[in-house]
Order: sequence, then C-alpha cells, then structure tokens
Amino acid sequence: MKYKSCHLIEHGISINVDSVQACCLSREFNKGMLPILEKYENNKINWDEIFEIKRRHRKHQKTLDLKFCEGCYNLREEDWDDEDYISYINFDHWSQCNSNCIYCGVQRNKPKQKNNILPAIKELIKLGKFKNNGEITFQGGEPTILKEFESLLKLFIKAGSRVRIHSSGILFSRAIYDGLKKGAVTVVISPDSADKETYKKIKRTDKSNKVWDNIKHYRKILNSDNELNLKVKYIIIPGINDTFEEVSEFLNKIKQFDIKSIIVDIEYTYANRNINNISPHVYMLMDYIEKFAKENNIEHALYDSALYAQQQRKYEDIKEINSNNIEEIKKQNADKNIKYC
Ligand code: SF4
Ligand code: SF4
Repeated sequence: MKYKSCHLIEHGISINVDSVQACCLSREFNKGMLPILEKYENNKINWDEIFEIKRRHRKHQKTLDLKFCEGCYNLREEDWDDEDYISYINFDHWSQCNSNCIYCGVQRNKPKQKNNILPAIKELIKLGKFKNNGEITFQGGEPTILKEFESLLKLFIKAGSRVRIHSSGILFSRAIYDGLKKGAVTVVISPDSADKETYKKIKRTDKSNKVWDNIKHYRKILNSDNELNLKVKYIIIPGINDTFEEVSEFLNKIKQFDIKSIIVDIEYTYANRNINNISPHVYMLMDYIEKFAKENNIEHALYDSALYAQQQRKYEDIKEINSNNIEEIKKQNADKNIKYC
C-alpha cells in the first residue's frame, strides 16, 4: 500500500543504552526520537514486542502521520511492504570513546554501557527476522573499543549486510580494514581539521597524526571498486575551524591522500540553535568544499545538520569560490557586513 513513511519507521531500530528507538534523529521538526521500547535489560530485546509496536506505528502512519516524524526530510510516499523484519540497525548503546570532541553530545548524556547487544542480535538473525537489504551503522561511542564490535562486524559481514562505521580513527582496526577490503564496510572518520593545533582544540586529544596515518593506512587497501568506502568528514564548527584557510588545508590533505569521498556537516548545537539563521559564511564554506569536490572528482555528501541547513537556506549568493578568489570574497563579505562566525 502507498503511503508516507520512512525506511526506519518501517524496518529500522536504533539501539540505545537501555532503550530502542526507530531512529537517532532528534531535531526541532520531530518530538525526539520515535520510541519503540522504553526499556530493555539483561542483554535481551523482546523482538515480538518490537514488531508489534512497529505494526502500530505503520498503521498510524497510513492514516495520520506520526507526530514524532512530522516534517522530517526522510518521509516519502512509497509502496511500503507489510512484513515484520529489521534491516536497518543503528548501534548507539555505549558511550566509551578515545576522543573527547567538544561537540560530543554522547558522553555528557549517557551512561557508558549497560548491555552487551550481541546475544540479542544473534537471536534476531536466528528468528529469520533480519534482512540484509538495509544498513548497519555504529554510532556510539567509539566502535573500535566496544568489546562486542569485532563479533558484530563479522556477523553482519557474513550476513551480507552493508555496514557503516563512524570511528574517531585513533585506533587502527583490523576488522574495519578487512571489511573495507571486502567492500562490505564503509568507514567515516571525522578529523575536522588537517592542522594539529585545531584538531587538539576540537578533539581535546593530541592524536591528529595517528588519525591521518590510519586514514592513509585504510586508503592503501582500497581500489577503484571500493575507494568510496572510506569517507573523511569535516564538521564546520563556527569559531574554531571555519576559516577558508583551515578548510583549504583540509582539502589539500584530502587531495594528497587521494581520498575519494568527503562528508560535510555543521556542528549540531549551532545548527539547531540557528537553523533559520545560519551564517552565510557557513554556506560559503559548504559551497567551497562542494566545488572542490566536483573539480577533483571526489564524492561529496552532506550529513544531517548540513542537509537540514541547506533545506532552510535563504542565502543563495554564492557561486564561484576557489583558492584564487577567497580573499576577494572575504573582502566583499566584509563590505556587506557578513560576519565570520
Ligand atoms: S524522525 Fe525521520 S528518520 Fe526518524 S523515524 Fe521519523 S521519519 Fe524516519
Ligand atoms: S568521536 Fe564521536 S563519540 Fe567520540 S568524543 Fe567525538 S563525537 Fe563523541
């Protein structure tokens, strides 16, 4: 039946420390993450209950839109199936990390870890209720220090799933390396800067060299079939890494390391607070990166807050920005009183 829904309402779960939601998207357009199970414990998830709630959500979606999801850019009209299965899983059930990013919402809000999720996932697969046509994501916390990480990764690679991992990149992971080699894993690393001092300000650790070394190491085993599976991210953080010089240095490193895929985001507390008033300068940086990517045949994507900001964009006056005309554009902006954040 055709109706407005999203793949996560239909077949997705996001597993938190002791609760389960449909997704991990919490924005001003929704009322927080769509809850499924308020609580799970002792490493057990009641899958029958999950599917019952999902059927209820689906029914509601067919008639009235779920208020939680109203306005979400993921909603689309489609002929959704009515089957009970899970094909999108986001792991978000631990918060330990080897970085300490200034924008991290994870460690401030969450207990470290209460449940080992491996037995529940094994059960889901055994029940025949897992389909490999979606995507597995690790959000956390840092996956490479999660004790069940390697076992989970092997399980999903064996099941033929696509796996996307967000890693600080501080630790080199054999499991990620092997997954990349097979083309089963996509890893996203967000150094946010090529400059050691800026990195230190953002991450509050001194591991810039280590991270870029690991990026280089992962890049080496990729070929033209799987080179897009290594994604390097730049989160624009107003006041910290938002100069053209910073961004240019990062892009030079991308070129030097022959990275073929970049992701851009905007620091989410800034984006949430200013969603209708994002600085034109931030949009300029986004356009600058996009242009660089196009010129260098690099895949370019926006993450969550940046995507949302683009949708709210009013300022369109940004066309051709490159390393030769940055100074000129800065001057024009100063003349127009466009402030650098
Ligand atoms: S908030 Fe958006 S992404 Fe999350 S379940 Fe609702 S529609 Fe899907
Ligand atoms: S790498 Fe991720 S989880 Fe770790 S501190 Fe940074 S934002 Fe938080």
